[in-house]
Amino acid sequence: MLSLGSLLDRAWRFAWPTLCHACGNIITDRREHFPRFDLLCARCRSRLGPSEGNRVLLGELPLFCAFAPDQVLFTLVKGWKYGGRDAPCRLFVSAMADRLALERLPSGVTLVPVPLPLPRRIRRGFNQSELLARGLIHKRDNLRLGRWLERSPLAGRQAGRRREQRLEYAVREYHIKRGCNVEGPVVLVDDICTSGATLRVCRDVLETAGAEVLGALVLARVEAFR
Ligand SMILES: [Zn+2]
Repeated sequence: MLSLGSLLDRAWRFAWPTLCHACGNIITDRREHFPRFDLLCARCRSRLGPSEGNRVLLGELPLFCAFAPDQVLFTLVKGWKYGGRDAPCRLFVSAMADRLALERLPSGVTLVPVPLPLPRRIRRGFNQSELLARGLIHKRDNLRLGRWLERSPLAGRQAGRRREQRLEYAVREYHIKRGCNVEGPVVLVDDICTSGATLRVCRDVLETAGAEVLGALVLARVEAFR
């Protein structure tokens, strides 16, 4: 016989069903004991997994990928960045923390988020890379946040540009913030890596200023993200 609590829970779910953040279908198998996946239905959940090729090289820069590239992931990222649906952030941070744990990093690593140009940062209300880095710092000891990079306010969107255009723009866009003491081991943090031009330029800027960039941590790598 069902308890009153269980009946109320069923009534609540019937009246206000939880919808999958990726496909929009009703989630019928919610697993409260595993809240990190509560936002996806079983079908989408099965497609969101760790990347097999989770360590690739961008030139000489190691890239640590938390997820395999998949449309479910891209839908969540787009909903977060452009639609303000921030529920997946916790899931992203958790997967990135797991991925980072696979690397033998020295203690005292600084996580440096890839910055947004100020006008877009204000319009969006947040920098997704910074939120990921902040979440990671709360999840793991011996990490610190380094908001050392800034991006020209005139910088445009990278999404949709050709590879050569991205590199050309990126070289002019990124700088060290005035007054920052740049030093020690660093891991760059970004959401989706496409050509890798931005990450490589950020690496060059940081290393010129005195840091040792050990790699870049991203959600996934994909050839084109629009
Ligand atoms: Zn779904």
